[in-house]
Amino acid sequence: MQRLQAFKYELMPIGEQQRQLRRFAGACRFVFNKALALHKERYGQGEKKLGYAGLCKLLTEWRNGPETPWLADAPTHPLQQTLKDLERAYANFFAKRAEFPRFKKKGQSESLRYPDPKQIKLDQGNSRIFLPKLGWLRYRNSREVLGKVKNVTVSASCGKWFVSIQTERELEQPIPSGGAVGIDMGVARFATLSDGTFYAPLNSFKRHQDRLRKAQQAMSRKVKFSSNWKNEKSRIQKIHSRIGNARRDYLHKTTTTISKNHAMVCIEDLQVRNMSRSAAGSTEKPGRNVRAKSGLNKSILDQGWFEFRRQLEYKLAWSGGWLIAVPAQNTSRTCPACGCVSAHNRPMQAKFICVQCGFEEHADVVGAINVLRAGHARFACEVSGAIMPPAAGTHRSGSGAAQCRA
Ligand SMILES: [Zn+2]
Repeated sequence: MQRLQAFKYELMPIGEQQRQLRRFAGACRFVFNKALALHKERYGQGEKKLGYAGLCKLLTEWRNGPETPWLADAPTHPLQQTLKDLERAYANFFAKRAEFPRFKKKGQSESLRYPDPKQIKLDQGNSRIFLPKLGWLRYRNSREVLGKVKNVTVSASCGKWFVSIQTERELEQPIPSGGAVGIDMGVARFATLSDGTFYAPLNSFKRHQDRLRKAQQAMSRKVKFSSNWKNEKSRIQKIHSRIGNARRDYLHKTTTTISKNHAMVCIEDLQVRNMSRSAAGSTEKPGRNVRAKSGLNKSILDQGWFEFRRQLEYKLAWSGGWLIAVPAQNTSRTCPACGCVSAHNRPMQAKFICVQCGFEEHADVVGAINVLRAGHARFACEVSGAIMPPAAGTHRSGSGAAQCRA
């Protein structure tokens, strides 16, 4: 099987390279915004949307034209890649996977991708990488890059530059080990497994949160745009990035453990986007857990669940296992012992007591058991229906939903 993997390192660009990186990232942002503005203008005039090839032709004109001659200083491929990104953003929008593409702001998305491996040289022995128009850049070599380099993305975060090296390599088809498990995602417990183990909530990094609140209060007392205000602002950004890192690290550890120990993982097919939209509900029908699902907390949960699933999906594919997403129907209200479905089965948030047979268990564990059952049903249905033969070794999630409502 082919394994794609990204290896990320901190770059150590010299002064001139830092200036170039900022300029190149700025050029990419400029091209993205200009192309997006053009799309909007043409749409307003009832003209057909330009395709990627048409945009590339325009890009050449912009580079050689009198208005933006500085575009010619930036490397060509990353600029073209930006146009590809815009095309994908449009495709995602039309497929209802994402919002309409937005203009990029300075300082928000400083990045550029070199898509052509022929132009990239990686010298791991000397901890350096060669990129067009930048030359050799040193990086903090923390681990070996495995496989053939496919492309490279350079990005900025909190005043530092990072390089992400995407590689491809051939591995033997792994044989999955371990049994099947169901997972219930929640607010009080981030994830509960059907075997009873559970993981702490994602917003449990309280120490960071307290520091963040204090820094935000300090910033609000400063004169806006003063140097003190700017200092506080960069401190807040650092705390944000530290929280993000801690959370990512936690998610990685969790998904690695789960995917290593199980051949089949079943999760609820949560429509994250829909859920966050309906969190507040209406006045007649107020939403549940509104406080937990709104504001910063909500975005943490959304990101966490989406990222958790994404990581599980590819890590299980690496280990030869399966991820099965099942529709979230009555998973928290069905008794695993007798099958009775009732809202009264759950007298409290954390407790499940069956009104028919008296079965008692933690509510999240009950949810996870039901998710596992639904997953088993779907798996059997898919294999017997030969929608996707298991020999292919691909992970399946959400597929065959219409054929098989578990
Ligand atoms: Zn029961």
